[in-house]
Amino acid sequence: MKTAVITGAASGIGACVKTRMKAQGYKIIGIDLQGETINADLSTDDGRRTAITHALDLSDGKIDRLILAAGLGGHLDNGQLVAKVNYFGAVTLLDGLKDALAAVQGRVVVISSNSAQMRTDPDSDIVRALLDGNEDEAMQHIGESHGALIYGLSKHAIARAVRRRAADWGQANITLNAIAPGMTETPMFRGAADHPVIGKSVDAIPIPKTRVASPEEIAGVIEFMLSDAADYMQGSIIYVDGGTDAQLRPDAF
Ligand code: NAD
Repeated sequence: MKTAVITGAASGIGACVKTRMKAQGYKIIGIDLQGETINADLSTDDGRRTAITHALDLSDGKIDRLILAAGLGGHLDNGQLVAKVNYFGAVTLLDGLKDALAAVQGRVVVISSNSAQMRTDPDSDIVRALLDGNEDEAMQHIGESHGALIYGLSKHAIARAVRRRAADWGQANITLNAIAPGMTETPMFRGAADHPVIGKSVDAIPIPKTRVASPEEIAGVIEFMLSDAADYMQGSIIYVDGGTDAQLRPDAF
């Protein structure tokens, strides 16, 4: 039986991917704050270590599929926490599980966001410190910043972390890609959309397709990215956002 490790498996997109992978016959190792195979807080060193150790144990060191979906939204006040979960909670598991993926030609999808390119400065000190893996320095630069300022930067950095690893990981026979969803109807999205201040900027984001995505629509693309049909994809950042990014940045890709 093949094994799939899914962070953020308790809710939203991660839960939807979990249901689909289970139906395909995968053994599921879900990771979340509570209610999953491994309960761990990915904002902390301890939680990340626990998640990696138990995932390696429960999978016998062979992970066929890894989906990194755990995340916090930009409506949260605590920008440091947003970066800790969205960037370090993802990249630490990615690197910690690499050998177990390489052992079975594993496939990985990391969830970034179309916010990765919205008003984000790719040269900011925060992005640099994240990509350097320097959590203390990143926290210093973030300081008291609101999550709204950090969310896009954390998603920008995690997409670049995927791109930076794509060559080495490809040579290690690991298929590594990221998806950049747009607004998707989940508890995280609700938290942002219903926020008295952040909700206004959410409303201002154009969606050519005139509606938000369902979690199933995002999970369906993730399922494809994890399938044999996507074997030649490597280091790709796939936008699934109803056309928002194309409308905002028509001449960039
Ligand atoms: P969600 O809130 O439904 O699910 C996120 C999950 O992450 C939750 O189960 C939560 O408990 C878990 N999580 C949060 N903090 C954690 C921690 N410290 N340790 C372990 N688990 C933790 O949200 P979602 O919309 O399904 O989000 C899934 C991913 O998709 C996230 O990375 C999010 O940034 C990304 N995304 C979402 C949208 C959207 O509009 N919903 C858009 C673009 C990208």
